Amino acid sequence: MGFYQRLTLKQSCVLCMEPANFCVCQACEAAFSNQINRCQSCAHPISGNLDFCGQCLSHSPAFDHAYTLYDYQDLVAQLIKTFKYSQQLCIGNYFAHKLAEKYQTMQHYDAIIPMPLSRQRIRERGFNQVLELLSIIKKKPNFIDTHSVHRIKATQPLTTLNPEQRQKEIKGAFHANPISYQRVLLVDDVMTTGTSLNELAKTILKAGVKNCDVLTLSRARD
Ligand SMILES: [Zn+2]
Ligand SMILES: [Zn+2]
Repeated sequence: MGFYQRLTLKQSCVLCMEPANFCVCQACEAAFSNQINRCQSCAHPISGNLDFCGQCLSHSPAFDHAYTLYDYQDLVAQLIKTFKYSQQLCIGNYFAHKLAEKYQTMQHYDAIIPMPLSRQRIRERGFNQVLELLSIIKKKPNFIDTHSVHRIKATQPLTTLNPEQRQKEIKGAFHANPISYQRVLLVDDVMTTGTSLNELAKTILKAGVKNCDVLTLSRARD
């Protein structure tokens, strides 16, 4: 990189410290992992030319389609953790732009519902990371609906539990007021087992929503 080019770049990449236009440089971004073939239902990586994973074929989730940007590993996992636990808002802003780009390619929704966090979690963390990720996707007022659904139970981390324990832990975690619009996009930062998003989808479908899809920044292998 030449001297004058360096001068025009305002910040350094949080991963490699090289000068960059955003807080992640193009070289690091090129190393992000994103599986080409994913289950159309839950976005879990699958091999070959299959459309759905075995789990969704036997037990399809309450949402229709899950979309994701990256695999939850290596640099992406490191960035998301730094963003969430050290409040590095420039990383949130970077990912918010990426989510907005993805959103442009998607179909129409009446509203976006971000994964509701418990008050305790927001207090611990100091901010709601999912709302930060939605900061670039702004449409009409109230398009991002943070009022219809609330988390009424603070759940323990689900990844350490077996499938039955997870179901038990998440059951009744959300409460929704009656919802009048039809098509909803649920958004979360990381989807691991999909248990929380599935429960959230069930809750809003009962509250009057006709169908919903899911968009996450990253998908972990469970
Ligand atoms: Zn870099
Ligand atoms: Zn699946």
